[in-house]
Amino acid sequence: MQLHTCFVGVFFLQDQDKEYVGFATLPNQVHRKTVKKGFTFTIMVAGVSGLGKSTLINTLFLTDLYKDRKVPNAQEQINQTVNIVKHTISIEEKGIKLRLTIIDTPGFGDAVDNTESWKPIEDYIDQQFEQYFRDESGLNRRNIQDNRVHCCLYFISPFGHGLRPLDVACMKALQEKVNIVPVVAKADSLTQAEVYRKKMKIREEIKQYGINIYQFPECDSDEDEDFKNQDQILKDSIPFAVIGSNVQVESEGHKFRGRVYPWGLVEVENPAHSDFLLLRNMLMRTHMQDLKDVTGETHYENYRAQCIQNMTRMVVQKRKRRSLIEQSEADFPLPLAAGDTETERLIFEKDEEVRFSYRLILLSLDAATQTPASAYVQPRDACTSLKPSQMRCCVQEHFSRSHWLITSSEARVTLLLQLTTFIPLVLLMSFRTAH
Ligand code: GDP
Repeated sequence: MQLHTCFVGVFFLQDQDKEYVGFATLPNQVHRKTVKKGFTFTIMVAGVSGLGKSTLINTLFLTDLYKDRKVPNAQEQINQTVNIVKHTISIEEKGIKLRLTIIDTPGFGDAVDNTESWKPIEDYIDQQFEQYFRDESGLNRRNIQDNRVHCCLYFISPFGHGLRPLDVACMKALQEKVNIVPVVAKADSLTQAEVYRKKMKIREEIKQYGINIYQFPECDSDEDEDFKNQDQILKDSIPFAVIGSNVQVESEGHKFRGRVYPWGLVEVENPAHSDFLLLRNMLMRTHMQDLKDVTGETHYENYRAQCIQNMTRMVVQKRKRRSLIEQSEADFPLPLAAGDTETERLIFEKDEEVRFSYRLILLSLDAATQTPASAYVQPRDACTSLKPSQMRCCVQEHFSRSHWLITSSEARVTLLLQLTTFIPLVLLMSFRTAH
């Protein structure tokens, strides 16, 4: 009987093995591996100073990241440049490790002239892409540290009417590089109706200026209704109206992060008071992986494609230049460029003109002194084969000798007349030859 049961067991296991190959455990394998490796996430905060960026970060992650912070005074802010400050914390929750990096941008929008003050932010994002691109193309690809910025919380002032020109310019400059999540800061300074109007206005302006902010992925059709509703609420809340607080308040027996005012209490995590919970859930619980995916698959891919395009263009240009050199070397064995032949021809023409004018001078000297120049200088035909500089010496010699031979006053007058006509001509010719 016992033997029979044993056989049944063996047959049963064999049947089960046929149907169960084992790849269903893949998610578990991936899970185990990624948990072991840990996760990384990088958030950037941008916006004018004093909007509550550091307070919100501390509230989001229940830490105090800005203990040693030094706020510059008005004088220091006049010419302040934008700094990039990096804070990294490791958080562990239920055995899952997260290396969280916060990139702060103190000084943004603080100076008198804020032209291109978003440039350091843009450069920082590009540098992280560049580093990742280098690491990815390097030899050791196993331990690449991902420092790419996955999300940028852009803080908009609750005061004023919608976006400021600086907000528009900055968001437009960053839109192709990072997932922008706009937030209305210090929402407790606005009434419920004001918050609603502000959100509408900002959404309208974002559309009007063609700013690409982070787009939440579409819900799958097979998702349950509750999930779909939550997703819609999230999409309708953009820009998130947030409140931050570094202090714990105790009221009616329970403790919470809040702000105490003479007229009442503001609870940071109360959905009726702010969108803080929505933002935190979105960043931490529901969309962290999607933010990372969009960064990798869209923003980084754009950067990478641009890089490869530039590199290919450079290589093609280099090759073209090299083949041109090789071709020209084959075509012209002598190192003579086409332009040189033309220059040579012009020089030859000028030489001819100068030679002609010297011959005229020699003839006029002959006539004035009634002595053939050829008697004491080289024959004229020989002179014409000389270079202009040699011709000049020849004429000078001829003139100095003939000067002493001129005796009659008539001859002197003729010589003077001839010289006043031809010397300017010679000078003009020499000048033209020189230029
Ligand atoms: P940052 O310069 O943008 O980092 O701004 P801080 O976090 O240093 O905040 C500047 C001031 O605003 C501080 O006095 C904060 O207490 C205050 N603050 C921060 N968050 C809020 C908020 O949500 N509402 C209100 N009313 N004040 C806030």
